[in-house]
Amino acid sequence: MVIKTKIIATVGPATAGRKIMGELIENGLDVFRLNFSHGTFDDYARLLGEINAARDGAGRVTAVMADLCGPKIRTGVIDTAADMLIEGSEISIVNGSAPGTAKRFGTNYEFFVKDITVGDRIFIDDGQLSLLAVSKDDDKVVCRVIVGGKLHSRKGINLPDTKVSIPSITPKDWKCVDWAIERRVDFLALSFVRGADEVQELKDYLVQKGSAIKVVSKIETPHAVADLEAVVDASDVVLVARGDLGVEMDLAEVPLIQKRITRLCREKGKPVIVATQMLQSMIEMPTATRAEVSDVANAIIDLTDAVMLSGETAVGKYPLEALKTINRVARFTETYLDSLNEPRPTIKTESKDRLIATLAPNVAHIVDEIDAPVVATWSQTGQVAAFFSKARIDAPIMAYSSDAGTCSQMCMHYGVLPQCETAPEDIEEFAAMVDKKALSQNLARTGDEIVLVTSRHPGSKEQTNAIVVHTVQSD
Ligand code: PGA
Ligand code: MN
Repeated sequence: MVIKTKIIATVGPATAGRKIMGELIENGLDVFRLNFSHGTFDDYARLLGEINAARDGAGRVTAVMADLCGPKIRTGVIDTAADMLIEGSEISIVNGSAPGTAKRFGTNYEFFVKDITVGDRIFIDDGQLSLLAVSKDDDKVVCRVIVGGKLHSRKGINLPDTKVSIPSITPKDWKCVDWAIERRVDFLALSFVRGADEVQELKDYLVQKGSAIKVVSKIETPHAVADLEAVVDASDVVLVARGDLGVEMDLAEVPLIQKRITRLCREKGKPVIVATQMLQSMIEMPTATRAEVSDVANAIIDLTDAVMLSGETAVGKYPLEALKTINRVARFTETYLDSLNEPRPTIKTESKDRLIATLAPNVAHIVDEIDAPVVATWSQTGQVAAFFSKARIDAPIMAYSSDAGTCSQMCMHYGVLPQCETAPEDIEEFAAMVDKKALSQNLARTGDEIVLVTSRHPGSKEQTNAIVVHTVQSD
């Protein structure tokens, strides 16, 4: 059975190799996430080669999202013999990354000491350890340990109070951007976005390079939350990055921020992803906790387009089980959503898109009235599919394009099943194409009434303006 929620899974050592990647697709994966935070360019090239081989062998369109590391500050190398931070004790963070201890250690960021102000909080290892800067000189920041514990090498450091002078897109990130452009990935995720201008900078660069890659903004800093509307406006896709968000801001705020972001994306017609720790315990265990499956279901009820797995599939012991679990939860939760009769949202859009925006809720209404099992549209640029998805039409949306890149990018929209085909001559030919596919995929049966939305000549530049109620025929 088709599920409408899109599933993103991060690849890593636990899912390396074409075979398991093929199994991920069979179990419902829509988008592969390639994380530039770990590994080398050789590793990325090998993983992407395997991903693309698995995609080519699959009977369904999938996509690739590459995730830029951004200005992630990390601890340097720590001597494991002396690594306990004791609450109330003092510790120095120094310039350089010479091997450290629980008395003094360095980081990978050369201006760490310079950027910190006395009174700033310093969180280490997803906030498990916390320090307070009490004094500083040119070479070191002296901190008091607020929450102690074991200090490990190369763990993430979050500085929610500090104005960090590293650009959001670091020199290493720009190399990754060029790599991604050359290899034609579908999405680039931008980590630690602080404002709309950074998103725009990346988009301008992509345009200048003639790339059609779409930009995913990861909301994980207080600055992005404060400037949310502008960031969402500037982005193609938005990701609720709950991992760092829960350290940079009060953890208790995360659920409501998730709801604010998903609601705003819905109003603005932007696809949104809820990410991080969705099935965290499945890194070690074959089943999820009740809290985790509730979290997945609630993200879907918040009307997210996609849910994402990180460590669960990258380094976990049960990557396929994690995917199967998220799939099952999505299937059950969607039946609940379909049974609701909530008023459909109006999408705020520019006047040039108004006709399509107006078509969407009307198509949804027709689908309800005639109980159509599927809608098919020719969506050459993916725009119609995006609007139909946000209108939450109850039936799955078969969205056709002859452009392979557009087809992959349509994988990010709830309810959209991308179909890559050569454009038909006219509506009759389109109907025959849809019948064949819908029957073979069990999306409809002979005699069912389905809805086609297209222009008179699918794939042409003509405005989409025809809604046809069509009876499925077998030949
Ligand atoms: P990360 O981003 O996994 O790249 O850190 C997601 C998050 O912070 O939630
Ligand atoms: Mn993050």
